[in-house]
Amino acid sequence: MALIVQKYGGTSVGSTDRIKNVATRVSKYRARGEQVVVVVSAMSGVTDNLIKLAKDLMPLPSEREMDVLLATGEQTTIALTTIALHSLGVPAVSLTGAQAGIVTDGVHTKAKIQNITPKKIHDLLNQGNVVTVAGFQGQTIEGQVTTLGRGGSDLTAIALAAALKADLCEIYTDVDGVYTADPRIVSGAKKLEEISYDEMLELASLGAKVMQSRSVEFAKKFGVVFEVRSSVNDHSGTIVKEETKNMEDIVVRAVSLDKNQAKVTLVGVPDKPGIAARIFKAIGDATINVDMIVQNISHGSGAPATDLSFTVDKPDLLKAQKVIDNLKQEIGFGKVIATDNIAKLSIVGVGMKSHTGVAGKVFDTLAREGVNIDMISTSEIKISVVIDLAKAESAMRAVHQAFLG
Ligand code: ADP
Ligand code: ASP
Ligand code: MG
Repeated sequence: MALIVQKYGGTSVGSTDRIKNVATRVSKYRARGEQVVVVVSAMSGVTDNLIKLAKDLMPLPSEREMDVLLATGEQTTIALTTIALHSLGVPAVSLTGAQAGIVTDGVHTKAKIQNITPKKIHDLLNQGNVVTVAGFQGQTIEGQVTTLGRGGSDLTAIALAAALKADLCEIYTDVDGVYTADPRIVSGAKKLEEISYDEMLELASLGAKVMQSRSVEFAKKFGVVFEVRSSVNDHSGTIVKEETKNMEDIVVRAVSLDKNQAKVTLVGVPDKPGIAARIFKAIGDATINVDMIVQNISHGSGAPATDLSFTVDKPDLLKAQKVIDNLKQEIGFGKVIATDNIAKLSIVGVGMKSHTGVAGKVFDTLAREGVNIDMISTSEIKISVVIDLAKAESAMRAVHQAFLG
């Protein structure tokens, strides 16, 4: 008898009809004698709507209360999915993250899983139940409700698959698998049969929201092989696993676009030791993730000063501006320019390790599209550029065509 963890995302549970569809699929696995743990997201739009309600009341709501609020989305879906299973005569029990034994740290809205005690799930499975678990949420050791960051149900599924030593982990979503680019933006994108953890991790952290990046990090760490596939058909999906030698034959695996970035520029920052440390320590203390950082060479005629730009996730922009404003007196920089009219375009592939000329081809493609490059960052297996948001999608299509068309 195999133990299978299946995760269904927001669109896949977006209506009672979709939930019935999930229950039918689960019942087929169970009829074959499989043990099934079903992790569900909030119904599509619910999490966004809850965030909007809170922000109507105040722009920066308490993160503790946001977690209490957002956890209700997944709690609705576990109950409805379990009821749908009951309606098909399938014994099933729902568990919140806390009831499922998911213990996290106390960083509200971005909590990390510290450990999982899956005894209760095992007991319920052994009694013949399907167990539905609320994705995206956990509980601190002190009993505080926490959430795992946007897209966090992916992490719940992968972490449960590891803790339960599941035979199979399937991530059901609204596309057939992982594509060479977001198929909603690039019509010619192709489905990948397989992709390495490292490539999936880069893609996920660079905006391909098909998988939450922390979930892929977790899968890599614990060697959880998983499949991304569609909840509305039986096509085979994309297998995500450790890199194999032949994966390097392909230079560029996929292109991704992150429109969820914002840029902060500090003009005239004193150019002396310790200043960058002071700024980024304060940003880090506020649990804001900084992605790219660019510092110009010193300019001006008086004391050496420089311009410093960095990018953060769009939802963290207000918080970052607040931190920076508090440092202005102490450090003594000039203007602060914040913009969210940017996007980060990236190409990813383990084959870049052994091929040259990739960066030149990206820049050339962008130049021919008339797209100006604002910031650049590279790693062994990716090249990212920050560009104007308005031109981002056409730039993505051009770069996809140049490498994968
Ligand atoms: P779920 O609600 O199932 O978690 P998400 O909306 O989080 O689903 O992720 C699925 C979406 O990810 C797809 O609808 C697609 O638009 C987007 N996406 C972005 N990049 C890719 C890619 N490279 N391959 C597949 N889907 C992608
Ligand atoms: N409901 C949460 C979100 O929308 C978690 C998830 O769907 O994975 O981000
Ligand atoms: Mg998702």
